[in-house]
Amino acid sequence: MDDVLSIAVQKSGRLSEKSLDIIRSCGIDVNADSRVLKAMASGFPLEFLFVRDDDIPGYVADGVADIGIVGRNEYDESGVPLSVVRDLGFASCRLSIAVPHGFAYTGLESLEGKRIATSYPRIVGGLLKEKGISAELVVVSGSVEVTVDIGVADAIADLVSTGTTLKMNGLDEVECIYRSSAVMIARDDMDEGKKELLRRLLERIDAVMMARHKKYILFNLPEEKLPEAARVIGGMKSPTVTPLMDKGWVSVQSAVDEGRFWAVFEELRRLGAEGILVMNIEKMTE
Ligand code: ATP
Ligand code: ZN
Repeated sequence: MDDVLSIAVQKSGRLSEKSLDIIRSCGIDVNADSRVLKAMASGFPLEFLFVRDDDIPGYVADGVADIGIVGRNEYDESGVPLSVVRDLGFASCRLSIAVPHGFAYTGLESLEGKRIATSYPRIVGGLLKEKGISAELVVVSGSVEVTVDIGVADAIADLVSTGTTLKMNGLDEVECIYRSSAVMIARDDMDEGKKELLRRLLERIDAVMMARHKKYILFNLPEEKLPEAARVIGGMKSPTVTPLMDKGWVSVQSAVDEGRFWAVFEELRRLGAEGILVMNIEKMTE
């Protein structure tokens, strides 16, 4: 039988849509009917397993699935030995200490002897131990933000993305202790056939992720400004330059980092660039 790689993804929650999005951008389609547990993809020998995110590291470790997409926080909290093969960059959040108004927080040492509620005892406990702070961890599996109000904890360590939930519960976020985003995890002991499938899948994911951070620009420029323009654009080997009918003018095309895009745009305008066209890139390799 031909090899099939199996991937565990979150059935429904913050990671579900984006996990499927990234796989779909790789030309792999799957019918993600919310009621099914397993589904075979088309376009690649990949089988999906839709489960709760907390179970993903364990399933991959036990061989129920070969790879998985999960928050780095869940992976680190699970304590199972797997490889993080890619940081996928989405679902980013931070694990922060939050305290009620009036709690005089001056640093982690303020937590000495306190009760701290969290769903991540391994990560939080590990950090406190490292800093030599002894505090009592109150482990809860959800609604960590209400524990101070109901009197079971003095402070909390919880995942935050915007901070509104904390504010609504009268808590101040005082320190970020850990950062997370979605990662792809994999078992190390896959057979060669599966390893090859994973290598091919990662190659596609890299092409998609790289393209997401770039824009493709095309513009006309007075030829004598080329050296300066090339310096402004940077990146990639060199821009593609084509002569125009208009003597002394060239057409230039290149990929540019999205984060630098507006700075590059303004510099090019200053150099006399005209007819600037900007396009999204679907896929790309170095
Ligand atoms: P499940 O039912 O699968 O167990 P869940 O309720 O445990 O789901 P979600 O709330 O969907 O999980 O969160 C999944 C992951 O999304 C988290 O483990 C974390 O990595 C990430 N995440 C991003 N922002 C936040 C946030 N503000 N709060 C909690 N998790 C977040
Ligand atoms: Zn969960």
